Order: sequence, then structure tokens, then C-alpha cells
Amino acid sequence: MRRCEALAAVSESRDYIERTYLSDSHKRANAIVEGWIAEAKAEHWQDAVGNVWGRLPSQDADSKTLILGSHLDTIVDAGKYDGILGVLMAVELLHLLRSQRIALPFNIDVVGFCDEEGVRFGATLLGSYAIADRWKDDWLDLTDVNGVSIAEAMTSFGLDSTKVSDAAIPRENLAGYLEVHIEQGPVLDRANLPVGVVTAIAGARRFNFVIEGESGHAGTVPMEMRKDALVGACLCVQEVEKAANLYDVVATVGDINCHPGAVNVVPGNVQFSLDIRSARDKTRDAAFAWLTDRFDSILNSRDLAMSWQEIHKAPSVACSSKWQRTLEKSIADCNLEVLSLPSGAGHDAMAMENITPLGMLFVRCKDGISHHPAESIMVQDVEVAMEVLMTAIIDYALGTEEV
Ligand SMILES: [Zn+2]
Repeated sequence: MRRCEALAAVSESRDYIERTYLSDSHKRANAIVEGWIAEAKAEHWQDAVGNVWGRLPSQDADSKTLILGSHLDTIVDAGKYDGILGVLMAVELLHLLRSQRIALPFNIDVVGFCDEEGVRFGATLLGSYAIADRWKDDWLDLTDVNGVSIAEAMTSFGLDSTKVSDAAIPRENLAGYLEVHIEQGPVLDRANLPVGVVTAIAGARRFNFVIEGESGHAGTVPMEMRKDALVGACLCVQEVEKAANLYDVVATVGDINCHPGAVNVVPGNVQFSLDIRSARDKTRDAAFAWLTDRFDSILNSRDLAMSWQEIHKAPSVACSSKWQRTLEKSIADCNLEVLSLPSGAGHDAMAMENITPLGMLFVRCKDGISHHPAESIMVQDVEVAMEVLMTAIIDYALGTEEV
């Protein structure tokens, strides 16, 4: 918890936490975390994309590697725990394994990923995609608000942008990936439980809708002769909530623009966004199909035209059943009720799942608040999570030996 506070002071701003990819604060945070890893007498380094690493090697030189970690970058005006908690718990685990002289049949690697949030350059999961050999060289041309490209920022940071692929880790070297993260939602808080097992990370689809009607004078066009795009959009938004309840998915219209946008003009054109997510891709797609049918019939009856564009689509990613069972058992061993839940938010784990079996443990955060400076966790919960993590790793090691 002290280390979380120390990292919270490493920011681009004096007034709030902001630690973005390839910034000065990224460099300082990596150095501090490397220092904490060094205190555990573990190996430490920074890789070709800017992730920070630590390693407690197994006795056997041919051992596979279990990676534990999360991200060290933040959003603008962030909390102290999103991502950071998972990295620092993994660092603490190195200390515990070292001090308790626990030998494992795999190397334990700790990673602090460099860009999960995608704040500076717009593309997310850059650090973990590089590890999973999913890095795209086009990304080097992405620029920040000042026109600085990733390639240029890498040079000033001290990285070689032509060598990012060196960060990739061959899948045959890996025994798994385990990430601890704050839940960022209210489910554990409501259930009054410190930790929960993640079943899958929801797959999201995002769309832009445009409804075309007819602008007109607010005083002269009779009600029955209007083609009011905003009224059509409002009815559609209500259907979004209905679809979510009907199909048990989450769906959100978070952005809406009305044109021409004047107090005395009937709205002729409305654009709105849709974000729809589920741990089950088929259910999510069925909900979307139902929704577009409903939109069609509502808008047709009002003589409004609609067009839409899909702007993002990611499949859901499942946590491995072995990790889920291992974490469930560890939680039960702590005499706690086992609660399994999907993650509605994206994580580095999504990229890592491309190369190795995935496990995720959620820690309760107060009122489910995250991506906000009021993000808050309890030290007792972190203690429980550490115990669950330690037990799970030892059990996973036993399971690995059996196989
Ligand atoms: Zn996060």
C-alpha cells in the first residue's frame, strides 16, 4: 500500500495522476519498480517496448515461466490502484517467495506493462501486444496531441523502435499468465467479498449510428408533419436498455450529438454511439441483431433514415478452467465464499491469452469506483488477495508437476 502511494506521486501533473506511455513519469515509475524488484534480489530489466520486468528463476534452467503482472500506465486524473495493484502484488510475491525460500518448478516473472490505457497514442494494450508478438509496426506512426510519433517518443525514451519485436516471448517458454486487478465495478462490494475469480473478459462491439430526419422551424412545422431525428434516437436509446435486460448483456449509449442543435429548430440529424459487451460473443451479437430490428421498425414508422458503422469489435477472452479452479480453491481455502464474475473492462490479459493460459483475480474496490481519483481499496482485502495469490501459485505448481 505504501508503494501504491509512492507510485501515485510519479505523475506528469502536480494536481492529479497521469502516467502515459513513453513519458518522463513512465521512465521514473519503471526505475522505482525495478528498484523494488532488486530489493527482492530478483533479476530486473526493461524490455524493447518499455515494459519493466523482474524474475525469480527456478532451480532448473529449462523451466517454463509463469508471468504475473498488470499495467503501470494510467488514465488522466487516475486512481492509485488500477493496474498498479496487480504489479505491486506480484513484486511483493517475489519478496515473499524469496524470504520464505519457496522453490517453484517454473520461473516467476513479474511484468509492469507500459501502455494498457492507450491515453497518449490512442491504441491500447501496446506493452502486452508486443509480448504476445501482436505488435503492428504501423503503430510507430501514431502520434500524440503534440504530433510526436511513437517512434520518436521511443527514441527520446531510449528505446530502439526497430527492435520492438525483441519484446515478444515464445509461447513454448510460458507456463501461464496471472493478473490481479481491482474489479472496477460494484459486484464484489455489493456481495461484501474481498476477491473474486474472473471467468472471462467481455468482448465489446462499438458502433456509430446516424439518424437522418428533417430540420424545420420549431414554431411552424406541425407535430404530425415532423421528421424529428432526436425523438427517433430517444426511442432507440430506450430499446438499448431493453435489449441489455432481455439478453443479459451491458449496452451503453454514451455519446449523442444533435444537429443543428438550436432551441428553435426541429432536430434533423442525430448521431449516437453504442457500446455493447458480453462474456458470450453470440449473446452479444444476438442482442445487437434484435436491436437493429427494433431500430428499423421504430425509424420506418417515423419516416426517418438510419445508417451505422461498426468502429470496434473484440472477441471475449476466457480465463482457463485450470486457473479458475485453482483460484476458486485458494479462495475456499481462505474460508471465503467463491464468487465468479466476468470482467466488463478490458485488460492486458486479453493480449496475453494469445500465448498462454490466462487467470485473473479481482479485488474489491470501494463502491466499484475506478478510473477516478476516488478509487479506494482496503488493506485487509489486499492481505486476503496476497494469500489467495500465494496459495494459487503453489497449487498451480503442484498441478503443473502432476501434468
Ligand atoms: Zn487497468
